[in-house]
Amino acid sequence: MSQVFILVDHAHGKVAHSVGELATIAKRIGDVSALVLNGDLSVLTPQLSHLGISEIISLSGINFEKYSAGASAQAIAQLVSEKSPAALLITSTARGKEIAARVAVRTNSGIITDAIDIDAALIATQSIFGGSTTVHSKVGHGTPIITLRSNSVEIEVAATTPILTEVKVAESDFDASRLGDKVVSITEAVTGGRPELTEASVIVSGGRGTNGDFAPVEALADVLGAAVGASRAATDAGWYPHSHQVGQTGKTVSPSLYVACGISGAIQHRAGMQTSKLIVAINKDPDAPIFDLADLGIVGDLFAVLPQATAEIQLKKA
Ligand SMILES: Cc1cc2nc3c(=O)[nH]c(=O)nc-3n(C[C@H](O)[C@H](O)[C@H](O)COP(=O)(O)OP(=O)(O)OC[C@H]3O[C@@H](n4cnc5c(N)ncnc54)[C@H](O)[C@@H]3O)c2cc1C
Repeated sequence: MSQVFILVDHAHGKVAHSVGELATIAKRIGDVSALVLNGDLSVLTPQLSHLGISEIISLSGINFEKYSAGASAQAIAQLVSEKSPAALLITSTARGKEIAARVAVRTNSGIITDAIDIDAALIATQSIFGGSTTVHSKVGHGTPIITLRSNSVEIEVAATTPILTEVKVAESDFDASRLGDKVVSITEAVTGGRPELTEASVIVSGGRGTNGDFAPVEALADVLGAAVGASRAATDAGWYPHSHQVGQTGKTVSPSLYVACGISGAIQHRAGMQTSKLIVAINKDPDAPIFDLADLGIVGDLFAVLPQATAEIQLKKA
């Protein structure tokens, strides 16, 4: 059976949810080899062994975090050239896409980004032009390198005992001119205990309709264990950080539930959230375009609707 590489996203000893999705897709294509850069394997291996992974390839020897994507891409490209896997799958984060692009250039391979599904024949599905068009495409040259949006597929759990392969790399192995920028310091973003936007299975977002008061949006998010998103109108106004912006020029999300509060549903916002599985919209304008997209629409003032919804959910949870 052919070998498929997936790149393992991990932070603080926790494997990202999206890795389970990559593994689920990779299993359709072949045996899954998980590439781990700089990880504590005693902590990561138990998490990976629930995902049906056959092999863990640990790349160590240099601190990849010291560099931008250049060093990771060089190490991965070298492995791809040596092993010629059937495909390399990476999560569609900004860093993931940068690594994918660099590996594609270095291995003279084709790349598809932001796929929402990939079948056994390596045909990728993308949702483009704000979700108005679905594209099916296949890489025709080299090793298919495909990035997958988080929350696109249901994870299939399968217990395995992966074999461990260690690959030592040294700084001297690398083409210094292509390492990318050197990271001089890292400041962890303050997350406030809520899930990361692109990883969250539930997102509650606020727009201009909040008039700058995100308290009811955050309260609902907290009872649902959700991440908080925002429209560009809200982030441009300085009401919420730009890192929470959903849309064409913000983050692309695909949660199980997306609650849009006081958001009109402009095409640029929809581009970032319309592959969500269930969309609920709260807007006081019955003609707001967001209702064309919503599975459930509530015409009303968010300052009246959200506290009631939050209280009701709290009651049900008690
Ligand atoms: C190149 C480009 C890129 C862009 N990228 C993005 C992007 O990434 N993300 C993004 O979001 N936008 C983006 N935009 C901006 C986009 O076009 C819209 O301007 C923006 O999404 C509007 O945000 P909004 O829905 O919060 O505000 P509005 O369009 O002003 O809508 C506010 C809504 O709130 C409702 N409302 C008001 N008060 C209440 C209340 N009390 N209760 C309930 N409902 C209420 C109103 O009826 C209205 O429908 C981009 C634009 C351009 C040109």
